[in-house]
Amino acid sequence: MILILKKNPDMKACEELKEWLGKQHVTVKETVGKERTIWGLLGDTSEIDADRLKALKIVESVKRMEEPYKKASRHLHEEDTKIRVGDVTIGGEELCVIAGPCSVETKDQILKVAESVRRSGANILRGGAFKPRTSPYSFQGKQEEGIRLLEMAKEQTGLPIVTEIMEISQLPLFENVDIIQVGARNMQNFALLKELGMQHKPVLLKRGMNATYEEWLMSAEYIMAEGNEQVILCERGIRTFETYTRNTLDLTAVPVLKKLTHLPIIVDPSHGTGRADLVPDMALASVASGAHGVMIEVHPDPEHAWSDGEQSISTEEFAKLNPRLQGLRQWM
Ligand code: PEP
Ligand code: MN
Repeated sequence: MILILKKNPDMKACEELKEWLGKQHVTVKETVGKERTIWGLLGDTSEIDADRLKALKIVESVKRMEEPYKKASRHLHEEDTKIRVGDVTIGGEELCVIAGPCSVETKDQILKVAESVRRSGANILRGGAFKPRTSPYSFQGKQEEGIRLLEMAKEQTGLPIVTEIMEISQLPLFENVDIIQVGARNMQNFALLKELGMQHKPVLLKRGMNATYEEWLMSAEYIMAEGNEQVILCERGIRTFETYTRNTLDLTAVPVLKKLTHLPIIVDPSHGTGRADLVPDMALASVASGAHGVMIEVHPDPEHAWSDGEQSISTEEFAKLNPRLQGLRQWM
């Protein structure tokens, strides 16, 4: 971290700041120029709040040279993090394919789709039980019953399950869930992130629809700082001026995040586009961008889906798509 001091700073305040930094195990390398004095802060500055330094009267500006996300950063952890779930490793050579409906609707629906995507080679079953809907009048999910139905599908097919948590109080219901999903709308629900950091299941952290890469990684850091380092990042599209698609799928996130962090990154082309006709191409593009996996909404009858039917592909379409995704991955 670099501090540029104001002209003729108060010497007593400078000494006080140096002393405080010393207590944080940070030493100051001072360079006195004609116009300005520059301090290079040496040591671990990840827990120093740059905004608090900026507020000091003697400080002109502060520049962080290292990432504020210490645990998620590639710097101190060069190896890719690999997360084992069921018979798939997320973050390694294999492509992890998560498939299933937007919402768990009925026993018949979830068992049908689970059996079908398993036959087509999916590794993990998805399905929302608690649904964050824009309108309070829309279907809110089957809630606890939805989780029971997912557990039934897991038992019947052997597929691990991933489903979204919306608040801390729901955590006891997730005992048999393999991956806990944090949705885009909760990416900065810091209390929830901290709680998920204190438990031991992998967390699928979706990117907030207006979150920068750094904000997203800081949310991963919240989970990791509490001790849970099993975080999977999921790009799901961001808000831009474009209205043709539901969101703008930012595939640049994949190679960028792979540089910045050792955590696995997967892509959700369903919420990323909002249109079933675009999902196969963008799923292939996700694999081509280097993603460790994809998450795709699949429904046995998309036209009658209780949520997100317009972006859900049918089980038949998924059966055709998955071999293409696997083939592309192997070719890479
Ligand atoms: C979902 O995956 O079910 C979902 C609600 O996605 P997002 O949080 O990305 O909108
Ligand atoms: Mn959905």
